[in-house]
Amino acid sequence: MAVFNQVEFDNHEQVVFCSDEQSGLKAIIAVHSTALGPAVGGCRLWNYATDDEAIVDVLRLSKGMTYKNAVARLPFGGGKSVIIGDAKSIKSEELFRAFGRHLERLGGSYYSAEDVNITTGDVMMMHKETNYVLGLEGKSGNPSPYTALGTFLGIKAALQHKRGNQDIKGLKVAVQGLGAVAYGLCKHLHEAGAELFVTDINQASIDRVVTEFGATAVGIDEIYDLDVDVYAPCALGATLNDNTIPRIKAKIIAGCANNQLAASRHGDILRDNNVLYAPDYVINAGGIINVYYETNPEGYNEAKSIKHVEGIYDTLLEIFKRADEENKSTHHIADELAREIIANGL
Ligand code: NAD
Repeated sequence: MAVFNQVEFDNHEQVVFCSDEQSGLKAIIAVHSTALGPAVGGCRLWNYATDDEAIVDVLRLSKGMTYKNAVARLPFGGGKSVIIGDAKSIKSEELFRAFGRHLERLGGSYYSAEDVNITTGDVMMMHKETNYVLGLEGKSGNPSPYTALGTFLGIKAALQHKRGNQDIKGLKVAVQGLGAVAYGLCKHLHEAGAELFVTDINQASIDRVVTEFGATAVGIDEIYDLDVDVYAPCALGATLNDNTIPRIKAKIIAGCANNQLAASRHGDILRDNNVLYAPDYVINAGGIINVYYETNPEGYNEAKSIKHVEGIYDTLLEIFKRADEENKSTHHIADELAREIIANGL
């Protein structure tokens, strides 16, 4: 097992291996960068097949948080943590408290929060041992409506750039996944007059948007073949791949899912196909922006949070414009912008 020679290693400032014999905790915390502020990023609980898999994931995800926080212009660096184990059997108060004590030892260079298989209740248990956690119950609350707002505004920015107007009325949008964020996105789109085509693996989620927003339900795989204006991936990662890209007819791809491109080259293929892609970590930053306002000394302020989330529209317009001017793909421009902000400050 090696760290420094992993492809994903990007001069991470600190990688910490943590354990606790009594609770069975095995965790890795990666602080990628604290250039703009304390590293912030969620904790993921996952049954990794090998320790190497866990290292690769935490290195990749923590770097992603540095870029995401920078482009969202938050005074946060990037970090992430993974707890290794089966979510069905390993969870206990002792485990999360042991993890909280490890966070405490880092002295505030990293703040954790929820991620896959970690609930706000689990974070509250970490909080019994440390203040270096965010996204707590009773503070900024559920981030999903803010992620939904940012994604809706991101679709508007893409329309503005591609068509020179932001007309949503009559716009055909395919939404893949109808979870916490996508429900809010569908609501915004429906209220603005869009026609929705939706899919999910959960029938109850489909029924809700069909009933409330007059959406048309389509099959899980059918979502890629629709003749629509916008494809909004809001479920899984890697849905933009060799199999799906040739089938997608939408000229705008803008959704909230993380890691939408199966590989970086798929962003280049989209550009070659004249498809405008809103880079995932830029358009889906509404939730982390809202969490930031929990750290305000005067307390959480929703109005300030919403104003900041609205900035996603301008950031995307800037990225789209630069991508055209420099003849590059939008995801490369987003990465360049992140590196510039990290180097020059907010
Ligand atoms: P969620 O778990 O509430 O929703 C995901 C939905 O996708 C579920 O309804 C699930 O049934 C559905 N789904 C799963 N597999 C599917 C498939 N093969 N086809 C169609 N639907 C499928 O999650 P969420 O919080 O709404 O997040 C959605 C995406 O946005 C995730 O990729 C997440 O990482 C990303 N994201 C969320 C936030 C946030 O604030 N919640 C912030 C940034 C990014």
